[in-house]
Amino acid sequence: MQIRDMVREDIRNLVPYEPHPYADVIKLDANENPHAFPAPVIKDIFETLTGDVFTRYPDPLGEELRGEIGKMTGAAPENIILGNGSDELIQLLLQTFGGPGRRVVIPVPTFAMYKIHGQITGTEPVEIPRNSDFSLDEERLIAEMQVSGATTTFIATPNNPTGTIAPVEQVRRLLERVDSLVIIDEAYIDFGGQTCLPLIREYPNLVVLRTFSKVALAGLRLGYLTADAAVVRELLKVKQPYNVNGFSQAAARAVLKNWQYFREQIAEIVAERVRLEAELGKIKGIEVFPSKANFVLFRVPVPAAELHRGLLENGVLVRKNPGRTHGLEQCLRATVGTRQENDFFLEKLTKLIPIS
Ligand SMILES: *Cc1c(COP(=O)(O)O)cnc(C)c1O
Repeated sequence: MQIRDMVREDIRNLVPYEPHPYADVIKLDANENPHAFPAPVIKDIFETLTGDVFTRYPDPLGEELRGEIGKMTGAAPENIILGNGSDELIQLLLQTFGGPGRRVVIPVPTFAMYKIHGQITGTEPVEIPRNSDFSLDEERLIAEMQVSGATTTFIATPNNPTGTIAPVEQVRRLLERVDSLVIIDEAYIDFGGQTCLPLIREYPNLVVLRTFSKVALAGLRLGYLTADAAVVRELLKVKQPYNVNGFSQAAARAVLKNWQYFREQIAEIVAERVRLEAELGKIKGIEVFPSKANFVLFRVPVPAAELHRGLLENGVLVRKNPGRTHGLEQCLRATVGTRQENDFFLEKLTKLIPIS
């Protein structure tokens, strides 16, 4: 008996997510917030906790949190779904709107999970290369989305790993011209770019994805989407009832209530991004791609895998193979750290790149 032979054929050749078990390194690989979680917010979270949070099943729709997110975004509760990270919502969207015989159109390079959840749900991923400046190839994208069976497309703005923005007017043009679902992933919107959220009132085929991960709560897994109520109703048929635990719901409410602390951290991260881009640009042979997110993509003049390893041996972990190739073979992606972390990283990088 071979277990492998029993597995669905389209799952058999997938590669599981690789954890990064490196201790005592500066982590610039996962686009997390490098600053300390504010102590007053921890206090707030614990003060709101009751025993019921642990013994009882959580509120399946997260009504209180949906209400708070509604106030912040201007969306009504029936336009919002919470997810166990936005990763779960990507899968939920493809379970509901994708599946065998259907296609998900993905402008690449971009976030790897769109393709992976496509494969897991039996949806055929159709990858469309972006332009050389990583902007969307609008005509090609529209043409592919008009092919029968293309029910969804995922557009991250700012895009991971390139940091590129899709202007709202461009998104509007897409929405005008296609009948399929356009999913705008705003995981990095707090760091730059313009939100497409107000457009959900005008376009029933628009979904906007957001997450608490990049600013505050990567460890607690909390994302949300906003869309037309008709889209939300369909997704709720597929969503697991208790997908978001009560502790995470309470923590997210405290984060929103105390947003001023995070606003300061975001401002610091954005300022450091600008400095990091400028400093990287001064290193001979490095090409920096302009970013509106909390990370910077750069092309290096030496083999990227070796440089990645060299940095790791020097105590700095950056992301290798960002976007899984698609023209980024010579590139690395570094999350913006604290000022001290960025200085340490720049110092090690300068040492590892030979001055010719
Ligand atoms: C990190 C990231 C996500 C996933 O966020 P979670 O809420 O932590 O699952 C989604 N989209 C993009 C583009 C990301 O970079």
